Amino acid sequence: MDFDFPSMDDPRRADVRAWLEKNPKPTPRQLLESGYEVPHWPKPYGLGADPELQLIISQELDRAGVHRNGNLLSATNLGPSLMTHGTPAAKERFLEKMLMGEERWAQMMSEPDAGSDLAALRTSAVRDGEEYVVNGVKIWSNGGAADFGCVIVRTDPHAAKHAGLSVLIIDLKGPGVTSRPIYNMNQDPSDFKALFYEVFFDNVRVPVSNLIGQEGDG
Ligand SMILES: Cc1cc2nc3c(=O)[nH]c(=O)nc-3n(C[C@H](O)[C@H](O)[C@H](O)COP(=O)(O)OP(=O)(O)OC[C@H]3O[C@@H](n4cnc5c(N)ncnc54)[C@H](O)[C@@H]3O)c2cc1C
Repeated sequence: MDFDFPSMDDPRRADVRAWLEKNPKPTPRQLLESGYEVPHWPKPYGLGADPELQLIISQELDRAGVHRNGNLLSATNLGPSLMTHGTPAAKERFLEKMLMGEERWAQMMSEPDAGSDLAALRTSAVRDGEEYVVNGVKIWSNGGAADFGCVIVRTDPHAAKHAGLSVLIIDLKGPGVTSRPIYNMNQDPSDFKALFYEVFFDNVRVPVSNLIGQEGDG
């Protein structure tokens, strides 16, 4: 088995280098439209690139000093979930802005008493007409610095512990959402930038159309 990185004269680098020569300072939209923002995604967002091509693209972007605009969680978890299970309207509304870094996202699963045992989560979403009313607290995400969260909530309190869960897109700048930064022991207090937050939901109203997948399929 060959464990070497693709060589510097690998012909697959030529296309990437040619594009970077034409676009030395690409805008977020140009990077997205080239497929280089998320080459591992299928078209129209990515190139369906295999791991070697992904590596080549990353190395060539680094060499040219070009940075991607979406955050890692969006590219690896949240975006693919939305692409696979989201409604066409949700994909249209959210995916491009997510990948261009215009809107920041958080993955909000953990709670103070639900980490390894995620099925113990208690954040509730109660249906009220065409909205859910969400109450609870999430922890250990970047939610306090994000615009939207993919939030796992309990929609059926009577189902088995691991069931009755759903995933909602929640506007983290909307009414009823507050957050508190968490101070890490290993960070310099004089130069503190929060990486993690506790985020509180207090009667937050979320349209039913913000479900990712079906109710109960979280
Ligand atoms: C760098 C980092 C980034 C993170 N980012 C996010 C994020 O973006 N979004 C998010 O929602 N969460 C995030 N988390 C939280 C992460 O998902 C939780 O830390 C993880 O699920 C563990 O939960 P916990 O911290 O509550 O620990 P606990 O579940 O309380 O576990 C504490 C200890 O007990 C052990 N333990 C637990 N249950 C058992 C058992 N049944 N038997 C034996 N041992 C057990 C564990 O192995 C561990 O050593 C992040 C965590 C880290 C460290």
